[in-house]
Amino acid sequence: MSRTHCIAILAGDGIGPEVMTQTLRVLDAVEASHGFTTERSERLVGGAAIDDGGHPLPPATVEACEKSDAILFGSVGGPKWESLPPDIQPERGALLPLRKRFGLFANLRPGVCLPSLTHASPVKGELIPNGFDVLCVRELTGGVYFGTPKGREERDGETVAFDTMVYKKSEIERILRVAFTAAMGRGKKLVSVDKANVLASSVLWRETALEIANEFPEVELSHLYVDNAAMQLVRRPDSFDVLVTENLFGDILSDEMAMISGSLGMLPSASLGAKKEGTDLYFGMYEPSGGSAPDIAGQGVANPIAQILSASMMLRYSLGESEAADAIDAAVAKTIDDGFRTGDIATGDPSETRVGTEAMAGAVIARL
Ligand code: NAD
Repeated sequence: MSRTHCIAILAGDGIGPEVMTQTLRVLDAVEASHGFTTERSERLVGGAAIDDGGHPLPPATVEACEKSDAILFGSVGGPKWESLPPDIQPERGALLPLRKRFGLFANLRPGVCLPSLTHASPVKGELIPNGFDVLCVRELTGGVYFGTPKGREERDGETVAFDTMVYKKSEIERILRVAFTAAMGRGKKLVSVDKANVLASSVLWRETALEIANEFPEVELSHLYVDNAAMQLVRRPDSFDVLVTENLFGDILSDEMAMISGSLGMLPSASLGAKKEGTDLYFGMYEPSGGSAPDIAGQGVANPIAQILSASMMLRYSLGESEAADAIDAAVAKTIDDGFRTGDIATGDPSETRVGTEAMAGAVIARL
């Protein structure tokens, strides 16, 4: 009997709809070859939803997400909506409420530089002869961004401002379990990043990491202070397999990782919430690491691979279709190996085949 999964498709703005259309073609192809189907609810989000009804996250969109196993998200925002009040701007008014509504506490960002794309990385080629493949797992709902008290007041005749970096042990445990589980499915090496020489919350983080490690004896756990981790990422990114860290550190390190990977157009991301009862699958939202790229929107030149790999992550973490996910990942790697290049990853070398959004997806489908 064929397996059916429900997914909400929120393409959004800018290049979102272009890369989403191509990703759905890839999904059609992999469904046909792997014997499952997806029931898709396509809904408006971001600027497109504002234009339609005045709000970036309409109730019909939330309802479709609630009825789904996962959300495949494009990107939102653009100059047209930048002067709106902050609360109804596309990113703040759609992304943050979605994260909150679905308790998306774990952000997974792969930083992959394929061997044939090392020229696009600012890291010296001789340091990464075989490229690299790091997965950054960032805690998304705790830490200093949300801790209280937070504020500003007058003390001794001077203005002071303060934030609180706070973590409950249970919050640390659940993100570490996500990271250890991800490491089990990859190279079985996990680096936990903290600042345990200075911060009390990091001391608890490190203690908890050591405890959770007992549940995953096959995974080799090590620890790095965040300042050292930032250095090691640019010096020897290929030494990392999975990296796990708290919200603020992860915000910074995952952007560093995106930068050293070469192009935003290649990088997917996943934000995971609760596990579905009785399974190892998470409710999740999957989206490219980049934004709506208004500078190239509507031209048919955006790289669809970040969106295609986001769909692959969705198959792996939310739908339990790992073989289909493996097939997409392998087809993407082969497409790049065979020299297909959108503008963001092209070098101008005559051996490359320069393609647009649709042809890049076509090349992936041909290799599935
Ligand atoms: P951006 O990521 O959209 O673009 C940065 C650069 O990367 C641009 O030159 C763009 O052309 C390029 N780029 C990004 N994705 C690409 C792809 N798939 N193929 C080829 N090139 C690609 O960031 P920005 O310019 O800072 O922001 C543009 C808009 O996107 C803003 O309105 C911002 O608020 C929004 N944004 C949305 C999200 C989201 O939806 N999650 C994330 C970041 C930014």
